[in-house]
Amino acid sequence: MTCMMIDGKAIALRIREDIAARVEALKAKGVTPGLAVILVGNDPASEIYVRNKGNGCAEVGMYSRTINMPEETTQEQLEAAIEELNSDSAIHGILVQLPLPKHLDENAALAKILPEKDVDGFHLINAGHMLTGTEGVVACTPRGALHMIKSTGVNLSGKEAVVIGRSNIVGKPMALLMLRENATVTVCHSKTQNLKEICKSADILIAAVGKPRMINSEYVKEGAVVIDVGIHRDENNKMCGDVDFDDVKDHVSKITPVPGGVGPMTIAMLMNNCVEAIENR
Ligand code: NAD
Repeated sequence: MTCMMIDGKAIALRIREDIAARVEALKAKGVTPGLAVILVGNDPASEIYVRNKGNGCAEVGMYSRTINMPEETTQEQLEAAIEELNSDSAIHGILVQLPLPKHLDENAALAKILPEKDVDGFHLINAGHMLTGTEGVVACTPRGALHMIKSTGVNLSGKEAVVIGRSNIVGKPMALLMLRENATVTVCHSKTQNLKEICKSADILIAAVGKPRMINSEYVKEGAVVIDVGIHRDENNKMCGDVDFDDVKDHVSKITPVPGGVGPMTIAMLMNNCVEAIENR
């Protein structure tokens, strides 16, 4: 089967060009969109993600600020930093880089972010909007993944969609977004029985399982669309996803690569959410 690669890098580039034009228009009205990222501790992977987000902002003409806080930051100090950004008129989007050090309460911290500045879409208010399908901030990674599916012309209505993973930041919002598109959605997780059989029923398979190359051709239906959300470094320090790309590619109709798939889309959607936060005011 000829398989089409869904090029996240190219799609994200087009989105960034559109964002750059919207940033220009906002600047002409005297507003420069600003994103603040709070990074607690020295996790090397988080440092790379935060740097990429800052570079992404600079590229589209946005202002960005990183607030580096030490590993031993207390909950009170973290929440005080969030409160300060809530009332800072130069900042339109606030992101707390996850995971936080173990001693900090992630949910309590996220709850402090003003919902309209919650560009990650993790605040309970925005999670509620996701559930009810009302207007709110949509989490960046699921939003990017859905955009990629739609960019191929695939209509989700009536299709069997399977999500592997039920995290609050990827699996659950991804399932809700596809439900909104009228797909018949199944969510699988670590306790799911017959995972392979369920995955094999999927017209659209979303892998957000966090296990390098776990999803091989035994999990995919011939001709399925496969979206690989996973990001890992393998034993040779090579980037890979949750899907065994080489094993799967000849069985599917469309697939996202890693790198160059969902990753660039997440950053593009983050900037998009930040600009939208101003446009929707
Ligand atoms: P997570 O660890 O919070 O969730 C993983 C989910 O997979 C859980 O719900 C768990 O029940 C399920 N699971 C684990 N083992 C399983 C198994 N054997 N069978 C079935 N289900 C199983 O991870 P997450 O935050 O949702 O992220 C998932 C992956 O996506 C990770 O690789 C992460 O690095 C990546 N990620 C990528 C982006 C991006 O921008 N591309 C953004 C966020 C996360």
